[in-house]
Amino acid sequence: MAKCDEGYICEVCGEAVDEIVDSDLYLRFVIGLVPQSELTKSPERHIRCNPVQAQFIVHDDFEPVVVDGSFGKQFLDEEHVKQQQDLITRGWLRICEVTGSGIPVSEYPLKPKVDMSKLIAERQNFNSQTNNPE
Ligand SMILES: [Zn+2]
Repeated sequence: MAKCDEGYICEVCGEAVDEIVDSDLYLRFVIGLVPQSELTKSPERHIRCNPVQAQFIVHDDFEPVVVDGSFGKQFLDEEHVKQQQDLITRGWLRICEVTGSGIPVSEYPLKPKVDMSKLIAERQNFNSQTNNPE
């Protein structure tokens, strides 16, 4: 079947997903859950129509999503929730950032987070080497 001219239709509510910032598919793409090749093939959803994921977006500009069922973050492991909130909130900020920026879609995904503790350890190692008297 040909792709609908009106854009992608949310498989949950049946409304069009007009903006990338509303797109659950693009959100999962930037956080690395969906490969770019799947973007045009996978079913689309609004971010808010996937509340189990949307509940992890914690930001002043995002109206919080609350899940009452057993997938609600209040029932999940605290450490897991922290990781998910960090990742998915960054993903959401990223799609806000790339929307209209003109950068290629292949550049949308988040870069792996720099491991600061490793960097600091390397720096200390470097300093102790350079401080060593000959
Ligand atoms: Zn929807």
